[in-house]
Amino acid sequence: MKLWGGKRYYSLNYFLRQKFGEKVFKISLDAGFTCPNRDGTAGHGGCIFCSARGSGDFAGTKENLVEQFFEVKEMMHKKWKEGKYIAYFQAYTNTYAPVEVLREKYETVLNIDGVVGLAIATRPDCLPEDVLDLLDEINKKTYLWVELGLQTIHEDTAKLINRGYPLETYIKAIEELKKRNIDVVTHVILGLPGEDKKRILETVDFVAHTNTQGIKLHLLHLMKGTRLVELYKRGELKFLSMDEYVDLIVDCIERLPEDIVVHRLTGDSPRSLIIEPLWSLKKWEVLNAIDKRFEERDTWQGKYFK
Ligand code: SF4
Repeated sequence: MKLWGGKRYYSLNYFLRQKFGEKVFKISLDAGFTCPNRDGTAGHGGCIFCSARGSGDFAGTKENLVEQFFEVKEMMHKKWKEGKYIAYFQAYTNTYAPVEVLREKYETVLNIDGVVGLAIATRPDCLPEDVLDLLDEINKKTYLWVELGLQTIHEDTAKLINRGYPLETYIKAIEELKKRNIDVVTHVILGLPGEDKKRILETVDFVAHTNTQGIKLHLLHLMKGTRLVELYKRGELKFLSMDEYVDLIVDCIERLPEDIVVHRLTGDSPRSLIIEPLWSLKKWEVLNAIDKRFEERDTWQGKYFK
């Protein structure tokens, strides 16, 4: 059985420590972009789980990107004294602007002392050739990963959540990024309406066999101000219990290859916005329960990867 810094899965923390030789933490940013799934280009209203801040609820609030970086950095240093930084373009769609605008924003933060890389969250339908060329150029001079919000491989669920692109678009994007040796982190949501364990594991199996170097497993969260609230009010949403979720996470990770980095294992919503499931606010309890379940089941990442 392989262990990663004492854990039974390949955590992001472990990966970054190995790669950079010290603590590296992400600085979440809102660079002022919008999203084609909100402005009518790919869809209207956005993904039904997406918050008013474009799923960037932990990003800083200052408009100036450098000031915002330092605002978040200061908060992070309350938890960790020392470290380097990955600037994380998190809110909305971070490749959705003319290429010169993107270049200016990416380079601004790359020039900040201590920044060792960039993480760029985007949609697979937002990677035109000129943006791919820019990412290629950046990838050659710093560490870069691109995050793609897949959430599910099932087209009926994708329609229900208003994702706004078909699975083929994800496959094409991942191929284009692979051609350029750019690391990809794929987002998957566990517990979407109409998705049972079988369907969730089908998505995880699919992602496990794509050229993705990292995965974010999110617990479905109901947040105030999202379109998901309409379904909730109609009684059409069911939430996983903590025990069900912990078991499901272990099922998912067993099926991943040993070399995929697990970037996230839970949901993460601000206390002020979350409606359900409230147990997820006890993040450390959930993470400890996951570690414990790995041991109880005597299993590990990759055990059932085929
Ligand atoms: S693509 Fe991202 S930013 Fe846009 S609506 Fe969906 S989750 Fe929100």
